[in-house]
Order: sequence, then C-alpha cells, then structure tokens
Amino acid sequence: MIAQLIFAVLLGIGVFLFTKRIAFVRRNIKMGRDIDLSDRKSERWKTMARVAIGQSKMVTRPVAGILHIFVYVGFVIINIEMLEIVIDGLLGTHRIFSSIGPLYDILIGAFEFLALSVLVACVIFLIRRNVLALARFKSPEMGGWPSLDANIILVAEILLMFAFLSMNATDAIAVGRDIDHYVQAGSFPVSQFLVPLYSGLSDVGIVAAERGFWWFHIAGVLAFLVYVPYSKHFHILLAFPNTYYSNLDELGKLENMAAVKKEVDLMMDPTADPYATPPPSDDTNEPQAPPCFGVKDGTDLTWKQIMEAYSCTECGRCTSVCPANLTGKMLSPRKIVMDCRDRIDEIGALRDSNGGVIKDDGKKLMGDYVSEEEIWACTSCQACVDACPINISPMGIILDMRRSLIMEDSKSPEPITTMFNNIENNGAPWAFPAASRGDWINEK
Ligand code: SF4
Ligand code: SF4
Repeated sequence: MIAQLIFAVLLGIGVFLFTKRIAFVRRNIKMGRDIDLSDRKSERWKTMARVAIGQSKMVTRPVAGILHIFVYVGFVIINIEMLEIVIDGLLGTHRIFSSIGPLYDILIGAFEFLALSVLVACVIFLIRRNVLALARFKSPEMGGWPSLDANIILVAEILLMFAFLSMNATDAIAVGRDIDHYVQAGSFPVSQFLVPLYSGLSDVGIVAAERGFWWFHIAGVLAFLVYVPYSKHFHILLAFPNTYYSNLDELGKLENMAAVKKEVDLMMDPTADPYATPPPSDDTNEPQAPPCFGVKDGTDLTWKQIMEAYSCTECGRCTSVCPANLTGKMLSPRKIVMDCRDRIDEIGALRDSNGGVIKDDGKKLMGDYVSEEEIWACTSCQACVDACPINISPMGIILDMRRSLIMEDSKSPEPITTMFNNIENNGAPWAFPAASRGDWINEK
C-alpha cells in the first residue's frame, strides 16, 4: 500500500511539472505575432507524416538517420510498456497484461530488441559527440549547456534501457526460483544474457534488484518527462505540429510584410479615405500589437517562428551546409534559432513574474543575442531550410531581423544603402540615370 501511495505521488508530481512547463511554452508561443497557416490541411498532414513520422529528411545522412530512427521508434514503442508499469504501480499488481497470453511474450521480446537497438544507438551517438567530436557538435554555440543537455539525455536513455533489460533478467530469475508474486510471463531474448550478472544474488537480493530496476525505470521515465520540455529533446513532441505548419510554398518565395503591404495598398487605392476610422478588431479581448516591421525582439517573431525555436533539435545540419558559416563568417543558423528560444524563454519568465504583463528588461533579441554582423552574413541561399530535418526556417528569422534593421532603424551595410539610393533616384540598382538605361543597345 505504501509503495502504491509513493508511486501515485511520484506520478502526480511528474505529470504536474510536465504540464506546468508545457503551459509556459504554450503561453510563450502565443506571445508571437499571428500568421494564418490554417490552409491546405491535407497537404499539411502529408508533410507531417513524411517528415516527422517518416523522418524522410533524417536519412539524407544515412548513418545518423538510421540510428535516430532506432532511438525514436524504440523509445516510443518501449514506452507502451509504461502503461503496464503505471497500472501495476497504482494497483500493486505484477505484469498485469500477462493474461493476454502469447501476444504478451511477443511484445516483451520485441521491446527487448528495441531496447538493445536504442542502447547501441545511444552509445554510438555518445562516441560521435565526445570521442569523434564531429565539427558541427563543437561550434561555439554548443559549448556548456547544449552539449551537456545532449549527453544527459543519451546517458539517461542508456541507463533506462539497461534498467529495463535488467528488470526482465531479475524477473526471469525470480520466476525460475518460484518466488511469490512473480508470474511466468514474457520472453526475454536479450535480457537472458544478463542473467549471469544477477544469478549469484539470494532470493531477497533478487527481489530487491528487480524492484530496484522497476522503480529506477519508472522514476527515470518520469524524470525524463519533466526534463524533456526544458531541453532540445522537446522536438520529440514539437516536431509534429512544427512540420504540420511547415511552409508549403516554394522555398524561394518571400512573403510581403503585411503591415507594409497594407500601407501600400492604401496608397494605391484612389477611393481610400486616409482619415477613416479603422474597422474594429475581430477579437476585442486580446490587446492589439502595434504594426511590426520585421523582428527586433522575441515577441516580434510569429507564433510559428517561436514554435520552431522550441522544436530545434540543435543538430547543426543547417550550420554545416551554410555557405556563410563554411567560409568563416560569423553566422550560424542554428545559433540564431537557439538565441530566439533563449530570448523567448527569458521574456516568458519576466512576464510570469510580472503578473502576466510583458515587462521591458532593456534587452532585445537584436543586439543582445544576435549581432548585425550575423544577420548581414546570410546569402539567403535557403540551404539551411532545405537541410533542416523538421522544416525549420532559420533564414526566415534572419530576413525578418534584417527587415527590422532597414525598416525600423534605417541601418544597412554601405553597398546596400548605395543600391537603395540608386533605386530611389535612378529606378535601377546602378549609379546611372534612368535615361541611359537603353544605352547598351548601341554599344559595339
Ligand atoms: S540562407 Fe543564410 S543562414 Fe541559411 S544557409 Fe544560406 S546563408 Fe546560411
Ligand atoms: S534549425 Fe533545424 S537543422 Fe538547424 S539545428 Fe535546428 S533542427 Fe537542426
């Protein structure tokens, strides 16, 4: 009874902390500017199925892609076992689903193979990160917490899988010795090789070990549940909505800025009354943000861009194909996305500590997190967008930050300023009068 009570309390704390963090992130995403992505629903479902469930963009790098699929499929399916563990924990039963007969044996056997594949894949990932030290895991933005975060999760998954297999091995020993409470159920094609590790224990020791692994497994999974929304592993959940709301237009298409387009439409409309009272807003409860020309701070991002920031896996595939980064420029598209997430987290925490009202802390995404040099290094080639395994667009954020620099601050590098002046004065980007535009026809 006490064990059941402790289990229920642990479960309650885990679920409470998880939902608390989810609610925080949800509020943060809702701080973003509105963008209508409610169109082309069937295309969106197909994109999500192909990219998030099918992991189609992961396998462009086959080794990492296939290992990732092992971890993903293995971890998700093994967690079906959690359902049994939770029911056993609350009711004080043992292997409650064993009554389904041979299917149970097949399931447990399959879970064991999956657990082994997750374990092996995580060991290889750890070696790639820390021993082989691939360049994209050693960029400056990956120092400190991001690197630690990746290692924590890999080690946690290894320990959880080992605990799962050891739980089965000690369970099999207990069944073999006819210890009370243990039932003949399941097949153990992998954990049978761990049996010699524990067979020297007494009956009391076996029960203690089996219960210990059982508690470690469930406590570890609950800790994982609480930890995931704070880490880059949040993509386990957010990859689905993020790919659903993918940009379905051609990669090269740039959207007009709604606020600017509205002004231009008004200017071009001879029937428009510039002094007319604006129409009432559809949603009178929500405070209306002022017109936004690009992105200067976290709250200028759209809700989709904020969702992208929380979905980023920090894999660095974008940075590894970025021509600016490859030629030694300051820009790393991964860092831009990570900066957006950090800034939004900061604004969200300030808002919550200030009774739900966003407080000015004197900081901005532009300047305090991202520098102008990074923003102007982008060639807008779209390689980062193409490479991202979950359809994030670092370039979209960069271009919106550039728009803010130009439209709000009139800041642009010298060659671009010259081009703007030429367009304004000559109707062309070159420093020649409009009247001489056709001169090339007479050139010999
Ligand atoms: S669009 Fe910009 S950030 Fe993305 S890969 Fe090209 S240069 Fe790099
Ligand atoms: S933006 Fe995409 S490609 Fe870049 S680090 Fe994040 S998940 Fe990886």
